[in-house]
Amino acid sequence: MIIKDNFIFRMGDGKENAVHVKQGEIVVFDARDGFNNQIPDESYVMDRLDWDNVNPATGPAYIEGAEKGDILKIEIVDIDVATEGTMCALPGSGVLGNDVEKSEAKKVKIVDGCAIFDSFKIPVKPMIGVIGVAPEGQPIPCGVPGNHGGNMDNTKIAKGATLYLPVFHDGAYLSCGDCHAGMGDGEIMVTGVEIPAKISLKFEVIKGVSIKEPRLEDEEYIYTISSDIDIEKAIYSATKTMAEILQDKLGYSLNKAGMLISLAGDLQFCQVVDPALTVRMAIPKYICDKII
Ligand code: CA
Repeated sequence: MIIKDNFIFRMGDGKENAVHVKQGEIVVFDARDGFNNQIPDESYVMDRLDWDNVNPATGPAYIEGAEKGDILKIEIVDIDVATEGTMCALPGSGVLGNDVEKSEAKKVKIVDGCAIFDSFKIPVKPMIGVIGVAPEGQPIPCGVPGNHGGNMDNTKIAKGATLYLPVFHDGAYLSCGDCHAGMGDGEIMVTGVEIPAKISLKFEVIKGVSIKEPRLEDEEYIYTISSDIDIEKAIYSATKTMAEILQDKLGYSLNKAGMLISLAGDLQFCQVVDPALTVRMAIPKYICDKII
């Protein structure tokens, strides 16, 4: 199944147009870039950009069998990116934003698995910037991350990884988009290589257990993910949840779980530039390979 023409700008919108999806079925989400494909070339004057028209997410998909309180397990089967992406520098945006005097757009071609940045060939690492479910309360703009997922800009949400999201509404209403052909942790200028992509996902619903925030696993690590306006709160929450996982799975006290995280866990930035900041805590699977 392909979802192509359904887009939302706020997670929680578009329920009336949701596409029904069965568990186990591979669903392809045809996603525009994070600028909603508004930037045709480098001569584009960035000041013209319509900021009410960015971060579209393709969807939502209504996952049959998902009920409030369940966990939605999402397998990232593939991310097939286009052949050219866009980056930009904008006054006031990102870590260096106050030092940027003039806006600039840069096109980055993808050739033989590499992003061509001037003379540098940087291997592409496609990732999904925006992926989430309908949030608990009012709809949330796709550019904002939270416990529903959203604009987490997490480089580890990539092919082969499995993401776990809380379900707040029957059907979950999963949407995604804002892929990057590559991005550094932190996303300091507010863009990776923003690029249209076809995202292939597979869903499964986990019953009888709930989570408060997104979790992720790949071949080597399990991750807790947390977003907050206050990065210290995000750091605490991601760390606390990982400690609880180790207490539960290893039978450890809080003290021992904390010491083990302090020894072998890596606290990593996802992004530090969106309306809320996102961090993750990584633990190698040789320590704990169960995240739920
Ligand atoms: Ca993003």
